[in-house]
Amino acid sequence: MTDCIFCRIAAGAIPATLLAQSEHAVAFRDLNPQAPSHALVIPREHIASATETDSDAGELALGRTMRLAVQVAKQLGLIEGGYRLVCNSGPDAGQSVFHLHVHVLGGRRMSWPPG
Ligand code: 5GP
Ligand code: ZN
Repeated sequence: MTDCIFCRIAAGAIPATLLAQSEHAVAFRDLNPQAPSHALVIPREHIASATETDSDAGELALGRTMRLAVQVAKQLGLIEGGYRLVCNSGPDAGQSVFHLHVHVLGGRRMSWPPG
């Protein structure tokens, strides 16, 4: 089994609070939430970051992941108040887990620009 923590969550090998899943993507609650609602949405296949999605296969994986992220925002009741989708990529953005993931954040007013 891979030592990628998000691959292990997608495989059900380590626990997470699952919110939704599709054939191609999985959504679960972030362990360290930064907003009243904070989910992570990942492709089932291992892709290190958004940078690796500049291909036809990557486009499909990213689109499917974003689609589940929007479904999760709906499921969490975030549409009316609004929500933020964030995909940290690389060191300056603070990416800490190198399996592509989209943060779904909502339930509070957020500032711009981000920190
Ligand atoms: P990044 O900083 O890479 O954009 O986001 C990684 C996110 O993964 C962080 O918000 C962190 O709290 C979350 N995270 C790290 N390890 C785990 C874990 O084992 N389970 C869950 N549910 N979230 C995790
Ligand atoms: Zn992985």
